[in-house]
Amino acid sequence: MDKSQSTGLLFEISHKGRRCHLLPDCDVPTKTSAELLDKKYLSKDPTHLPEMAEIDIVRHFVNLSTKNMAIDCNFYPLGSCTMKYNPKRHERLGSLSGLAHVHPLQDDQTCQGMLEILWEMQNYLAEIAGLDGVSLQPAAGAQGELTALLVAAAYFRDKKEKRTKVLIPDSAHGTNPASAAIAGFDTITIKSNARGRVDMDDLISKIDSQTAVFMITNPNTLGLFDEQIVQITELIHKAGGLVYLDGANMNAILGITRPGDFGADMMHYNVHKTFTGPHGAGGPGSGPIAVRKQLIPFLPAPLVVKTNEGFKLDYDRPKTIGRVRSFFGNVGILLRGYFYIRTLGPDGLKQVSQNAVLNANYLLSLLKDSFDVPHGDRCMHEFVASARTLRRDKKISAMDIGKRLLDYGYHAPTVYFPLVVSEAMMMEPTETESKETLDHFAQTLIKIRDEDAEFLHGAPHTLDISRPDEVKAAKEPMLRWKK
Ligand SMILES: *Cc1c(COP(=O)(O)O)cnc(C)c1O
Repeated sequence: MDKSQSTGLLFEISHKGRRCHLLPDCDVPTKTSAELLDKKYLSKDPTHLPEMAEIDIVRHFVNLSTKNMAIDCNFYPLGSCTMKYNPKRHERLGSLSGLAHVHPLQDDQTCQGMLEILWEMQNYLAEIAGLDGVSLQPAAGAQGELTALLVAAAYFRDKKEKRTKVLIPDSAHGTNPASAAIAGFDTITIKSNARGRVDMDDLISKIDSQTAVFMITNPNTLGLFDEQIVQITELIHKAGGLVYLDGANMNAILGITRPGDFGADMMHYNVHKTFTGPHGAGGPGSGPIAVRKQLIPFLPAPLVVKTNEGFKLDYDRPKTIGRVRSFFGNVGILLRGYFYIRTLGPDGLKQVSQNAVLNANYLLSLLKDSFDVPHGDRCMHEFVASARTLRRDKKISAMDIGKRLLDYGYHAPTVYFPLVVSEAMMMEPTETESKETLDHFAQTLIKIRDEDAEFLHGAPHTLDISRPDEVKAAKEPMLRWKK
């Protein structure tokens, strides 16, 4: 097939006079637009639109749709992002017209079904967290972090306490310090110890009367559960601070332990990660937060409440920090998460985490003799391998390996994160992958390790685009077609 057919812009493959549908001439008398409209409303320039047959349009878009790595096409072990399979059943349920066609400005009485689902979702997320109140509004994990920190700030203001510091381990996701800074706090970094957990001496030396919040990811971004967590939360509480749990790694602990039970006061979920909202390439997301009782008055308004007259959106919340998102968050993703939770039930959710941890440990066992894995023989739902000796001995970097994997039809692992491991390759297989997929992926990685370094520096060799300047692509994207 002529490649330009599939990769050219619609304007480039346009053919004058070509149409999708050829309608017969109208057999009733009609007027032209020039006869119907005042001249001043008529456009002076001819409309510049591509002219195409339907088959060419379909091929154009179907071919474009296969240019991205996607979970429906490829294994996608992108650590921390939980790229699990998104069941099609939940897509179908979320698209039922009674749900898809509800308008956010409808009167509460006319969308009781939707409100009931959202009310139940609030309750499920509170239960899974072991916390008391939930706001479904934030549209991503990062926005959940910011929202919870604003809630914490309002809480301390209400108590007339001036607390300025947020403590964050050095293995944290970059959104943690960014959210704290945007919320107006000073961020203090806490070191990791040789075991990849919080360095307790460093933490204790940095807790003081200014400590507002300690943000922790547990299991952390190295895929390790910090078993000091109860001791940590007690220390923070004794100093009058709050503990925030970054819930991006909830896929490891569903139904096994609850953040509220180990002392967290607030957390966010990434519904798009843990509860199968389709994601990647920037959205859509959903980052609800769960909080302890004393923080509920400050949650964003409205919340869904159950009254004698049915479900309603409650705006009457005098201490609220206000809205953080138009309407009611990304409801489409919340629905998919709700159906996922309902489909699996408590036992099913627990099995999700057990299988996610099993799959990660299986993959780790296949790879640990061939790659450095700095933090241990066992992991939770993900682990971080390193290409540091490969880089030293053969000049092969984590980037080279990630790029070469694309040639073999695999998405790359997360590379160069977390920052505490050099040449990091963070792998999260999730529970939805088969043993055969993991075996083949491990064999492929080992094969790549033994390939020629020069050849790897040029990878990927089979895709339309090889190695774009990633900074320039992010900072100066060209979003417009210009002739
Ligand atoms: C993904 C992630 C976030 C941010 O969540 P978004 O939904 O992408 O905003 C925060 N922390 C960790 C550990 C993550 O993996």
